[in-house]
Amino acid sequence: MEQSLFLPIALDLTLSNFQYTDTTINLNVVSSRVSSQCPICQESSSKIHSRYLRIIGDLPISGKITTVHLQVRKFFCENTYCVRKIFSERFQQHLQSYSRRFDRFNELLSSMGLELGGNLTRRIGILSFVKVSASTILRLIIKCPFQPIILPKIIGVNDWAFKKLFDYGTIIVDLEKNKVIDLLPDREAKTLTKWLLEHPSVEIVSRDRSLTYISAITETSKNIAQIADRWHILNNLMESFECFLNTQRQSIKQIAVELKSEEKIGSSDNLSSPILEIEQNIKPFPKQNHSKYLDNFVKAKQLQSEGHSKRKIAKLLGMSRNTLNRYWERTTFLPKVNHKKSNILDYEEYLIKRWNEGEQSAKICIKKFKKKALNIKLGLFMS
Ligand SMILES: [Zn+2]
Repeated sequence: MEQSLFLPIALDLTLSNFQYTDTTINLNVVSSRVSSQCPICQESSSKIHSRYLRIIGDLPISGKITTVHLQVRKFFCENTYCVRKIFSERFQQHLQSYSRRFDRFNELLSSMGLELGGNLTRRIGILSFVKVSASTILRLIIKCPFQPIILPKIIGVNDWAFKKLFDYGTIIVDLEKNKVIDLLPDREAKTLTKWLLEHPSVEIVSRDRSLTYISAITETSKNIAQIADRWHILNNLMESFECFLNTQRQSIKQIAVELKSEEKIGSSDNLSSPILEIEQNIKPFPKQNHSKYLDNFVKAKQLQSEGHSKRKIAKLLGMSRNTLNRYWERTTFLPKVNHKKSNILDYEEYLIKRWNEGEQSAKICIKKFKKKALNIKLGLFMS
C-alpha cells in the first residue's frame, strides 16, 4: 500500500497494518527514524528507553472515521549535562506534543469552525465522517493565531441602522478587503473625524453625498481623497441629464411636432408618433404647485444642513418620508412632471362590443382588455 497517500510524508512513519469496519479505519503506525533529538539540549539520541501508544485522529479516508495508532518511543538523553534524562520522540510541525489530532486535521476543523461556529461544524462534521464536539472546535478556534493587522488605506463610509427608523450609526468598510472594520455608534461628524484621526493610514474615502461625512473628512485636515460611491456617481449623472432634458423640453416638443408633420406628408399611416404621444402625455405641474414643491425643497435642505433628523423635518414640513428621502440626496430641485393617466376611453368601442356580446363579467372583461391593450401597444412599436 502506498502509505504516503494516508500519512504525512515528512514524519517518516511506516504503516504496519490496518483494520477497518463499515464506518472506521485504524492505521497501526511506527516511526522509521533511527534517532530523535532531545527537546532540551537538542542532542540526538538512539538509545531507546521504552515505547507507548498514541491514538491520533486524522482526516477521513474513503468516508471512514480515521484513527492512527502511533507507536512512540522514549529515548535516553545521552548528554550527561542535560537536565532531561528521558524524552519522547517529537513529530514537530505535523503533530504537537499531547495533541490527539494531526495538525492538518486541526486546521480543517478550525477553518470550518471560524466560518460556521462550533455546533454547525460538529453537525456537518458528522456528515463528513469527522467526529468532534462543539467544545473542541471552540478550543481550536481560541488557539488560532491572530491575523496580522493590515492598516486600511481605502475605506467606504455610510450610515446603517442598528434599528431601522430609530437608531442609526456609521459603518466603515475596508474596500480593499471588502470587510467591515468598524461600526460607529452614531452619524455625527465629530465621531467620524475622531476615527479618521485614530487611523492615519486612510488615504481614500468613498462616501455618499452626506454633508456630515464631507465635513467630517474635511475637518481632519489630512490629505484624504473623497470619492462619491458608484451609486451616487450614477445618480449625479442621471440628475444632471434630467435637468438638461428639462431645459430642452420645448425643443423636444418642437422636433416631435416636425416629425409628426413629416410623417403625415410621407405616409398615410394614421398612427401617431410615439415621441409626440409621450410629450403630449407629459404636462408640467401647475405653477402654483411647482412653487409649493420648490419652497418645501428649500426648507427641507435648510433643515437638513442644520442637522435635523429626517423624522423631525418630515413632521415640521408635513412631508412624506418618501418625498424627503428623494430630496435628501439631491442638491438641486427637479420640477415634477404630471404623467397623463391611461385613457380607457381609447378602448371604449372594444369594451362596449364585448359587453354587448354578453361578456358582462368585469373581471374577465378587464383581463381581455389588458391583453388587447398590450397588443395595440406592441403593434404601435412594430409599425
Ligand atoms: Zn538532553
